[in-house]
Amino acid sequence: MNKEELQKIKEKALKEYIPIIMDDTLEVVDNILKELKPSKILEIGTAVGYSAMCFSEYLQEGGKIDTIERDEERAKEAKENIKKVEVADKINILEGDAVEILPTLNKKYDMIFIDAAKGKYPFFLQQALRMLNKNGVILADNILYKGYVMSDYNKHKQRTAVRNLREYIAEVTNNPNLETEILEVGDGLAISKWKF
Ligand code: SAH
Ligand code: MG
Repeated sequence: MNKEELQKIKEKALKEYIPIIMDDTLEVVDNILKELKPSKILEIGTAVGYSAMCFSEYLQEGGKIDTIERDEERAKEAKENIKKVEVADKINILEGDAVEILPTLNKKYDMIFIDAAKGKYPFFLQQALRMLNKNGVILADNILYKGYVMSDYNKHKQRTAVRNLREYIAEVTNNPNLETEILEVGDGLAISKWKF
């Protein structure tokens, strides 16, 4: 992997206010991946490919990441970026709306990283649970949404997102088959695993 190119892509994304994974969140995910040694990762929300490229370092030999992006421009940029960083053989960018693409997927994944439209998190969870391996983990980024999720105050604009993020949290905590932790890193990260 070309780390210099990766760093440039990160800086460009930050300058353009693209909401890439925050450093403290990435540190947590890195540690999970080090232990998990995944061979298949699914990401919902590629943006310009930054998080997927970071995760690709931890794949087992021959492992692959499928990542979904609906914005045409961003998907195009992500495709260029994975070539520059020399990880194109490990990352498969699926272009389109995850709401339509997810039901067509039938693989099993070791890690599923949910990082797209907040209003769709409950649906993404339902799809993720269907494809999660026995030892797998589902991560949901931005789960605390700038604190709105845990506060009574939220603007009209954010109401649907907040309602759906709360529904996600309720579902992962009430599901008797899951063990869930919510961390206040970055914009909030929910970590769910199968309970044994
Ligand atoms: N994971 C990236 C950041 C993703 S930002 C990183 O950390 O580097 C969220 C992205 O999800 C945006 O680019 C947005 O276009 C995309 N997105 C939002 N809703 C989506 C949907 N329903 N299907 C596919 N992509 C979606
Ligand atoms: Mg995010």
